[in-house]
Amino acid sequence: MNGRVVSIHPQVELAPSGSVTALGAPPLQHATVQLPHYMRAGTLQLQALPPLALYLHLPWCLRKCPYCDFNSHEWRGAESVIPEERYVQALIADLDVALPLIWGRRVASVFIGGGTPSLFSPDAIDALLTQVRARAALMPDAEITLEANPGTFERDRFAAYAQAGVNRLSIGVQSFDDAKLRVLGRIHDAAQARAAIEEARRVVPTFNIDLMFALPGQSLEQAVAEVRQALAHEPPHLSLYQLTLEPQTPFAKRPPKQLPDVELAADMQLAVADAAQCAGLERYEVSAYARPGHHSRHNRNYWEFGDYLGLGAGAHSKLSFAHRVIRQTRWRQPERYMQQAMSGAAMQAEQEVTRRELPFEFMLNALRLREGFNPELYTQRTGLPLSTLRSGLDHAGQLGLLFETPRRIAATPRGWELLNEVLTLFLPPTEDSRRDAEPMTDSKA
Ligand code: SF4
Repeated sequence: MNGRVVSIHPQVELAPSGSVTALGAPPLQHATVQLPHYMRAGTLQLQALPPLALYLHLPWCLRKCPYCDFNSHEWRGAESVIPEERYVQALIADLDVALPLIWGRRVASVFIGGGTPSLFSPDAIDALLTQVRARAALMPDAEITLEANPGTFERDRFAAYAQAGVNRLSIGVQSFDDAKLRVLGRIHDAAQARAAIEEARRVVPTFNIDLMFALPGQSLEQAVAEVRQALAHEPPHLSLYQLTLEPQTPFAKRPPKQLPDVELAADMQLAVADAAQCAGLERYEVSAYARPGHHSRHNRNYWEFGDYLGLGAGAHSKLSFAHRVIRQTRWRQPERYMQQAMSGAAMQAEQEVTRRELPFEFMLNALRLREGFNPELYTQRTGLPLSTLRSGLDHAGQLGLLFETPRRIAATPRGWELLNEVLTLFLPPTEDSRRDAEPMTDSKA
């Protein structure tokens, strides 16, 4: 499923350092966040902090799809059901420890991703959101998305999620062809997918359909027909992904037969994009299409290089402070994550994004948006002057891959299709190239 998977608040007051104990949970140990460590002087100067989103990762699936490289795990526990209560408790313990890092900031969106979050009961989702609201300041109109898989769909389940506060569902359909769904290892069939979509239409204000193309044995006409079937349900948002062979997946080790070649896959990309746009959806990001007012606010925040606190097994965070931007990763294995979170140590790794890395990281996200970005946003988000992008911008401009005005920088249509090549122009300089570029100090004069 799609686990993607990134307003300026003028002044953020940070709470004094310290830990908070999860309600109903055993007392936490090692739970102190050392705020002075994050607030100390550094080489960046952020004038304001970006908008903040919350990502909650629920890591289990009924079966692992052979193409999937997300941190999702087949539920094989001794217990017959997923330990949802224990996991929710761990998420809240994790949030409690992280709270001082986001103190005083409002949360614009919550995304419950996975894995298959719809394996969790509505009661568990309700408990999770209630406890999140009690701790973090959610904006009154916060977008709250839950990823759902049709094979886990039961009548009235979506309505119960909506009752719990979910106002957007993202449904992992992938295909409306039963034979293709079997090849993809999906647990649902097309009829279940249609029923799930119709139920989402009925109970939440907005929803997304995830669909894949370039499937084994798929023709261009079939790929377009799949998109038309999705469009027949009038989705406010559609995500169209090409099936790719990700390293370490069963498909990478034993590729399925009759995969479309590179040329056919590229033609499919153009054809499915045309089909969606002809139906009135705007392609506002490389893979995302929406009707006006239905962009994914949570995902836009990633692409605009906003902040996000990611909680749950293997979740990633990006958080800004006045003088630095940091990334964090949680423990990946669900059991280990729960143990670590309950002892106040859910974070496995943390690193500061360096000045050298920031330009590339920003562009990696911002150029995915059709509209690109306002140059001022670059400085707001990274604390760096636009001159740190200059050589890449000039080079890409000369190649006709980017355009630049005083108020906007964006990929040209050709640059958008060649996005990976464009991004290489913004890669951090290697040590060798930096040495080569350094001015000579032993002047002969
Ligand atoms: S449903 Fe399949 S693709 Fe989605 S997270 Fe689970 S294993 Fe991965």
